[in-house]
Amino acid sequence: MSLHVVAHPLVDDVLASLRDKTTPSDEFRRLARRLSLLVIAEATKDLPLVETTVETPLETTRVRRLATRVVAVPVLRAGLAMLDAFLELVPTAEVGYFGLERNEQTAVARRYYEKVPKKLEDAVVYLLDPMLATGGSAALAVDGLKGLGARKIRLLSVVAAPEGVAHLEAAAPDAAVFAAAVDRGLNDRKFILPGLGDFGDRLFGT
Ligand code: URA
Repeated sequence: MSLHVVAHPLVDDVLASLRDKTTPSDEFRRLARRLSLLVIAEATKDLPLVETTVETPLETTRVRRLATRVVAVPVLRAGLAMLDAFLELVPTAEVGYFGLERNEQTAVARRYYEKVPKKLEDAVVYLLDPMLATGGSAALAVDGLKGLGARKIRLLSVVAAPEGVAHLEAAAPDAAVFAAAVDRGLNDRKFILPGLGDFGDRLFGT
């Protein structure tokens, strides 16, 4: 599995504010969107293009346009933080949803909702899930996408834990992960350290 940690001064700067526990939800949402734009830009760098032509006001010129189907699948609910940024950069993307929740006691993930475009064989599929913690939900989601035919799967995260990366590597060696940071590890409640807390709670103020 390939792991890409997005190295950019703007990433570090936004991440500093996202980690800050005094950052209120409205600001957290704006920062999450900004950071998502940077991660998405990196994770779409190798999308295939096709040559075509357009008429500028002056002459005909050769241009290149996206040549692949792109599907974004936010994992509810925290993944919604990244969707708006994704659609801004790839407005033609199709969108699916996975509802996954982890049991607070066991940290085991279960899928409670799925609505994803079918026939994913020819698409590049971006799974949006800001916190790659144990990797349980990511592995479940990747498995679900493979069941729908997806072959090119990229997980976009804000913060990843080494445990989650290792779990996903074992479960889905052909997937790729893009994250703004890989943190130290998990605590006994399976929260990422130093992390930024519960992403969904901070995003929605719950
Ligand atoms: N999910 C979160 O929102 N935060 C963590 O630290 C781990 C999982």
